[in-house]
Amino acid sequence: MSRLKLATVWLGGCSGCHMSFLDLDEWLIDLAAQADVVFSPFADIKKYPEYVDVVLVEGAIANEEHLETIQIVRERSQILISFGDCAVTGNVTALRNPLGSAEPVLQRSYIQAVDLKPQIPHEPGIVPHY
Ligand code: SF4
Repeated sequence: MSRLKLATVWLGGCSGCHMSFLDLDEWLIDLAAQADVVFSPFADIKKYPEYVDVVLVEGAIANEEHLETIQIVRERSQILISFGDCAVTGNVTALRNPLGSAEPVLQRSYIQAVDLKPQIPHEPGIVPHY
């Protein structure tokens, strides 16, 4: 029997879901007997594999990089499990949505709430417009 190819992905989340995953403690040993972790923040693997049986996705899609990542993950994974509130409902990451656009969030976070050298990050796509 071939071993399960398991991945975990970290998008816009605090990593608490991954920490909770590690709280499986001794059950991780049982999991290791059944599955190979082929991609994860726990493993130093840079490229998402061409084929994954099951992927756990933590966090919401919060920027352009996340969007590109999740499209690749969707394409190459047989089963995708939204892992935690941020992945399912947006949760903390979605608190900015009622503000309508990225601009008020950027102003509040990087100009109004900063004492030293306030400036808005200028990397394209770092925060989506909507
Ligand atoms: S649901 Fe979101 S806020 Fe809660 S632990 Fe997971 S990533 Fe963090």
